[in-house]
Amino acid sequence: MTEAVNGGAAGGAGSEGILLKGGLVLDPASQTEQVMDVRIAEGVVQEMGVGLDAAGARVVDVSGKIVAPGLIDLHVHLREPGGEVHETVQTGSMAAAAGGFTTICAMPNTSPRGDDPTVMEYILRKGAGFGLTEVLPIGTVSKQSEGKEISEIGLLYQAGACAISDDGNPVVSGLVLRRALEYAKPFGIPVIDHCEDPDLKDGGLMHEGYWSTRLGLKGIPAESEAVAVARDILLAGLTRGKMHLAHISARQSVELLRFAAESGIPVTAEATPHHLTLTDADVQGYHTSFKVSPPLRGEEHRRAVLEAVKSGLITCIATDHAPWDAENKDCEFENASNGISGLETALAVVWDALVVREKMRPMDLIARMTLGPAEVLGRKDRGRLRAGGRADLVVIDPELSKRVDRGTLYTKGRNCPYHGRVYQGWPVLTVAGGRMTMRDGKVMYEG
Ligand SMILES: [Zn+2]
Repeated sequence: MTEAVNGGAAGGAGSEGILLKGGLVLDPASQTEQVMDVRIAEGVVQEMGVGLDAAGARVVDVSGKIVAPGLIDLHVHLREPGGEVHETVQTGSMAAAAGGFTTICAMPNTSPRGDDPTVMEYILRKGAGFGLTEVLPIGTVSKQSEGKEISEIGLLYQAGACAISDDGNPVVSGLVLRRALEYAKPFGIPVIDHCEDPDLKDGGLMHEGYWSTRLGLKGIPAESEAVAVARDILLAGLTRGKMHLAHISARQSVELLRFAAESGIPVTAEATPHHLTLTDADVQGYHTSFKVSPPLRGEEHRRAVLEAVKSGLITCIATDHAPWDAENKDCEFENASNGISGLETALAVVWDALVVREKMRPMDLIARMTLGPAEVLGRKDRGRLRAGGRADLVVIDPELSKRVDRGTLYTKGRNCPYHGRVYQGWPVLTVAGGRMTMRDGKVMYEG
């Protein structure tokens, strides 16, 4: 990428504007697909058009590249407060910037838990302080995420919660989930459920099928997810609340989502890059980087989830970024924690799988990582690119191929199953709130 820095006064006192020149702008909200320039200043997209005047702006040549809204991740574990050995708001924000994300939503399974408004305020303040990506806290559905007593959802919302979830745990009680959907509804925030029947899971370690038998590891049937998905869909129908289903991994769950869509039941869902690209066959070798909840499933399940993302039945791709330090992963498969570090590799992994191999339209893939999540959050101010809007953008090089090296990641979590694999289609520039936060893979932050 070449750059010419033009002379002249900047767009405003102390702020130098940026002109992204000659990129292919893809905006799913307006279905814009056109080569043009984008001028950014004062944290806002000032102008989009052909042959814009470069006066006073730092010009970045992005010809041959794609300019898209900044990516939004609905599902991230930042571990702070309490788990700073695994990740912090700072390292997670750096990983987000490196991955092209400008908004990430932080799950509340921290210590103390995000069942308290002060934890919401803490996460918001910390994230804003680094200015690398917007960090939106998620509050818990229930106190201590124990699934018994409902959290003070109104207070969590007022303190900045963008959603509520007991993720890590499912909400086992149907009544608690019903009440949460009802209480959250007037605030317009979604209830995000980790769909799993813990009795059916029964201490399983990987997907139940050929490979679990072959490897001698206790299996988790796909139905342990699907029975929870069925209940959640029915409760969404009952309450007309805002139900969002996390990390869908099973073919039966996709069939239930189709039933919901055909029945007019308001429910949204996300799929992760790992469930779209890896299967239970990857677990041979017992590498703990492939241990995740829900587990990597068989090829028929991967294919069903992938087709649902392509068709738009599933409107969001979310990472479920779950970093762990070596102690939690450098051990026997049975004892390892569940989780994959995914923020920095997400776009390349899905671009390679869905655009390069499956010929999905880049516009549609970008929609799953921008507009889709923005709509789940009910935030009309992000996930789209337009003059006058927030200057949250990502520039993607669709031709760039790179080998993943977990040693170079910004996250503290080295639990990366993609290590050593080559993927095509990487973010090369991130602009968050008008500020460049990543360029050519390097995060721009002087702490
Ligand atoms: Zn989960």
